[in-house]
Amino acid sequence: MKTIIEPFKIKTVEAIYFTTKEERRSILEKAFYNPFRIHAKDVLIDLLTDSGTSAMSSNQWAGIMQGDESYAGSPSFFRFEESVRSITGMPLIIPTHQGRAAEKIIFTILGGKGKYFLSNTLFDTTRANIEFSGAEGVDLICEEGKHPSIPAPFKGNMDIEALQQTITKIGAENIPMVIITITNNSGGGQPVSMQNIKDVRNVCTEYQIPFFIDACRFAENAYFIKLREEGYSNKSILEIANEMFSYADGCTMSAKKDAFANIGGFLAMRDLDLAVQCRNLLIVTEGFTTYGGLAGRDLEAIAIGLQEIMDEHYLQYRIRSIEYLTNKLIEAGVPVMQPAGGHAVYIDAKDFLPHIPVDQYPGQALVGALYEHGGVRGVEIGSLMFGKYDAEGKLIPAQLELVRLAIPRRVYTQSHIDYVAEVIIEVFEKRDAIKGLAIIEETPLLRHFTAKLKTA
Ligand SMILES: *Cc1c(COP(=O)(O)O)cnc(C)c1O
Repeated sequence: MKTIIEPFKIKTVEAIYFTTKEERRSILEKAFYNPFRIHAKDVLIDLLTDSGTSAMSSNQWAGIMQGDESYAGSPSFFRFEESVRSITGMPLIIPTHQGRAAEKIIFTILGGKGKYFLSNTLFDTTRANIEFSGAEGVDLICEEGKHPSIPAPFKGNMDIEALQQTITKIGAENIPMVIITITNNSGGGQPVSMQNIKDVRNVCTEYQIPFFIDACRFAENAYFIKLREEGYSNKSILEIANEMFSYADGCTMSAKKDAFANIGGFLAMRDLDLAVQCRNLLIVTEGFTTYGGLAGRDLEAIAIGLQEIMDEHYLQYRIRSIEYLTNKLIEAGVPVMQPAGGHAVYIDAKDFLPHIPVDQYPGQALVGALYEHGGVRGVEIGSLMFGKYDAEGKLIPAQLELVRLAIPRRVYTQSHIDYVAEVIIEVFEKRDAIKGLAIIEETPLLRHFTAKLKTA
């Protein structure tokens, strides 16, 4: 097989910023070892997130110019609605300014004290919005998903037996919703199989619990199903997406992921009563029902991006880029999550830095080292992001200590990725010199965004 090439040519370029290692050492210290506090101008290759960082196509930019900014009933909204509906099949579509705004609305309505939301793994903003409502989130990832280095085709699957047991234990009446995240962002960008989605549907039907999909990376998930699940190799991505959504009662979406947009999101559902409540809250917090906190031009960019993302040449290149970097790291002995996920490479920081205990945040320490050594910015997905404290103030660590290197869509080329691999491998060779960190300042919710740290 020939090299899988970037399925685009470049019309506009943006400069990236070079700094010296000495400069970065001081920048990192001033940023309190928190990558969210580093200015983007001080980053060479920015793998902090794939969210809102996509390169838009010339078609999307053309759509931006066609955006109609009417307050109510903009034609841009109807193009957006039609595009979302063609993929999800959902009749009721509510635009929001990003994914967490959709979450805020749905969990404000369905959440509250004494309620439980069950998931394969809740993404951080999803969990935060659930907890902010007073409810609790419960992650029920399958056994394979708990072991970063053991390859399996669908490590994002929900544990169906645990789902049933949890429902029996908590009581279906206390569970307003089961949410499956595709692909499973916090669990390594691992896909969920069609069979698992069907199984979750059946359990939800049995207990009469609404079933939603966190659909941020629906196209990447659909492509994995096409590659890995029997019976789907001849189906189009649209057909696979249609089938996935056909099992759900609704979905939340961040258009900053699989819609190639820089901002946006939506809620989609089948239940009219629920949609009426959502729209009422939308008008208070986001805006009128035909723009939901977005400009008409954003709705156009999303409408077009949602269709472009299903192109199989794109998805092949996308999935291959992640696999390419993952494989280079595996060859060098770097511990990474296997197999490669859909949007990011996940380094197992516990294994990478065995000399740093979890209460000194090995993931965060590694993030700092990668930045200092090569100007590459990643993010910790571990105990800084998900850790809690027990009654004595002792850290209850996260299940995994990962460093995520998320690849923005259509932004970097193969040589950028080669450079990233070189940086990681060089840091790996000198890993013994990396020091642990201690928190000096933090907030109660989503502390990783703003926390300040120092070397331990
Ligand atoms: C990004 C993301 C969200 C939240 O979307 P925002 O647009 O960032 O608010 C929710 N769930 C998952 C799985 C995500 O990746």
